Amino acid sequence: MSAAAALGGAGYEVELFESRPFLGGRATSYPVPASPDEEAETIDNCQHILLRCCVNLLNFYERLGIRDRIEFHREFYFIEPGGRISIFRRGRLPAPLHFAGSFLRMACLGRADKIGIARALAALRRERTRRTDLDRISMLDWLLQKRQTPRAIDRFWRQVLVSAVNEDLDHMAARHGFQVFWLGFLSRADSYEMGVPAVPLGELYSVEAWSRFGTVRIHTRCPVERITPEGFTAGGQLRSADHYICALPFERLEALGLAAPPFTHSPITGIHLWFDREITTLPHATLLDRTIQWMFNKNGGRYLQLVVSASRDLTNLSRNEIIEIAVGDLRLYFPRVREARLVKAHVVKEQRATFSAAPETEDLRPPAVSPMKNVFLAGDWTRTGWPATMEGAVRSGYAAAEAVAQAAGKSARFLIPDLA
Ligand SMILES: Cc1cc2nc3c(=O)[nH]c(=O)nc-3n(C[C@H](O)[C@H](O)[C@H](O)COP(=O)(O)OP(=O)(O)OC[C@H]3O[C@@H](n4cnc5c(N)ncnc54)[C@H](O)[C@@H]3O)c2cc1C
Repeated sequence: MSAAAALGGAGYEVELFESRPFLGGRATSYPVPASPDEEAETIDNCQHILLRCCVNLLNFYERLGIRDRIEFHREFYFIEPGGRISIFRRGRLPAPLHFAGSFLRMACLGRADKIGIARALAALRRERTRRTDLDRISMLDWLLQKRQTPRAIDRFWRQVLVSAVNEDLDHMAARHGFQVFWLGFLSRADSYEMGVPAVPLGELYSVEAWSRFGTVRIHTRCPVERITPEGFTAGGQLRSADHYICALPFERLEALGLAAPPFTHSPITGIHLWFDREITTLPHATLLDRTIQWMFNKNGGRYLQLVVSASRDLTNLSRNEIIEIAVGDLRLYFPRVREARLVKAHVVKEQRATFSAAPETEDLRPPAVSPMKNVFLAGDWTRTGWPATMEGAVRSGYAAAEAVAQAAGKSARFLIPDLA
């Protein structure tokens, strides 16, 4: 979609083929079945969030004219079992000291944890451009080198990074942990602000949004079956163009005759719970020490979306077991859950949520150009420098669009450099 928007905006004739009836891929929404007397409810496959440092994603939303549908939040709420809340927000000091005040007040961390974290953040600023092994060691290796306390690892580093990178600290290349903290928390005072779409994800990519691109045609329910330099087949029909961008998830490449990188997946589980009353007034919160990592308040505190990233421990559990864990966890943080009745629940286990951003993976990620000179690659798994995120996906599309322009003998800049 980002490649289509960039090239369409530059006047290229673009045709986009999507196998499903709707756009959005892994970042989309769909109606969940309701009982006969209820209207079907449109839900996101899982809550998706972004940070202000996702400059290309925000640029893509601007191209679609939907930037104002993203609401930014300046406060992160860390809740302990029992309900005590620590608020992380920026204060008046300039970056990188902008969090100093709220960080010192965080009740969920002790003095030794905070001193260790402050030292590690200072080391991260120094080492990010100097160390050459950050793709070879795990983030946990690095944190242990920096002698972080177990509580600092569990309640601070893990809590932020597992959701941002969708991988456990011991499976995550340190370079990704560095990038999240550098871009999101240290480089600029506002880059950590969390953007939450105010509408279901699918509405972001509506027909109306695409109508501003006169040269982009979208074909849904039209799976591509094969790609070669001579053309591709979609819906049983051979089609040809000057250039092709393949933006499939990596596990689908082989079926289309392209080489797939040897990546593994990391799962994410989204749990949607509807209660008969308001459970919380917080807009969102990160939940410490238990299975559920994030809570998002979707409808006056009655509908909560819960997220568990790198959710391998949930893979073999049934829907009911997962709901039981989720409601049990919520009781510890939000006492109103004890009296509330669960009206409806929906669990989405995305086993192939993202590629695993493990050590030694970066060099295996291919660039936009492929061995076929008029076929280009995009997707969050290509070499974007980012973990698998919407920002990474948009960057990959912009990089592929630039490569197409270059192959067409023109030059175009779509990619926006990182903030720092
Ligand atoms: C549960 C979950 C939660 C996430 N949370 C976040 C988050 O909070 N923030 C964030 O930034 N990122 C998040 N992500 C990651 C983000 O969704 C992905 O990184 C991003 O959407 C990937 O985009 P993509 O275009 O590379 O791939 P996809 O979104 O997978 O798009 C590929 C498209 O190709 C289509 N397709 C497949 N085969 C064919 C074919 N043969 N012919 C035609 N079309 C085909 C698919 O239907 C799909 O629409 C999350 C992902 C998941 C699964």
